[in-house]
Amino acid sequence: MGPVRFLIFLFSVVLLSGCLSLPKSRLSPPDRNTLVRDQLVIHSDFALAAHHRVFEELTAQRTDLCRRLALSPSDEPIHVYLFQNAERFDDFIRLHYPKFPDRRAFFVETDAQLTIYAQWGDRMSEDLRHETTHGYLHSIVSNIPLWLDEGLAEFYEVPRGRQGLNRPHLTRLLVRLDREHWQPDLPRLEQLRSAADMTQDDYAEAWAWVHFLLQSDPKSLGLLRGYLADLRRDGDTTPISSRMAAFLGDGNSLLTQHLHLASDQQTTHKN
Ligand SMILES: [Zn+2]
Repeated sequence: MGPVRFLIFLFSVVLLSGCLSLPKSRLSPPDRNTLVRDQLVIHSDFALAAHHRVFEELTAQRTDLCRRLALSPSDEPIHVYLFQNAERFDDFIRLHYPKFPDRRAFFVETDAQLTIYAQWGDRMSEDLRHETTHGYLHSIVSNIPLWLDEGLAEFYEVPRGRQGLNRPHLTRLLVRLDREHWQPDLPRLEQLRSAADMTQDDYAEAWAWVHFLLQSDPKSLGLLRGYLADLRRDGDTTPISSRMAAFLGDGNSLLTQHLHLASDQQTTHKN
């Protein structure tokens, strides 16, 4: 039985017998209010303040991301469904996407639509910054590799003004460098095909490569921009690890130096 039929089957069971236990409002995504901000079409069952800071931040993020990566923005709509609380969100996801792991937010791409599901709460801004990064990227470069997609999302999920410095990831990697003599391995990351297979270490390393490419020097930034332009035009292209070896030198030692420098700057900033 294919996944689609499996979903239909589950849905039928709930409709026939489960309506008694699940109110109808929990079967469909929230859609009582809609707010449009550039590409984002935000749906919710509660009143959305038209100029809520998070929505302004998300549109500014789109401008920043496109400018930084030298990509022309798309106008393909990205539907964002905001659930009032974790319970509503979990009910909906368990029903419609029973195989999804336990997360606070999801980005779903189908042939027809780009969709984000998220829940109102303390971490909502961070979740939305992460998931809308996926939305913006997929609306422009549909075949972006998983590690780069997640690395950019981890970069952009931190509040604006921190220059993409994801402190938990930086700390994790410095500990690994110090205690485990960790060696970065971009070719390994480039082989990853499923987000479900990515560990926290993988997310941290993906973030680190992205932070290095975006924040170290114009040559690294140029390499990333060139890669994305080629990927968008040709569909498949020479991976970043090979380009780095040819144009920048030993990527592993450059990345390690970059992480130590980022740590020093963070310490200086705090003092
Ligand atoms: Zn992600």
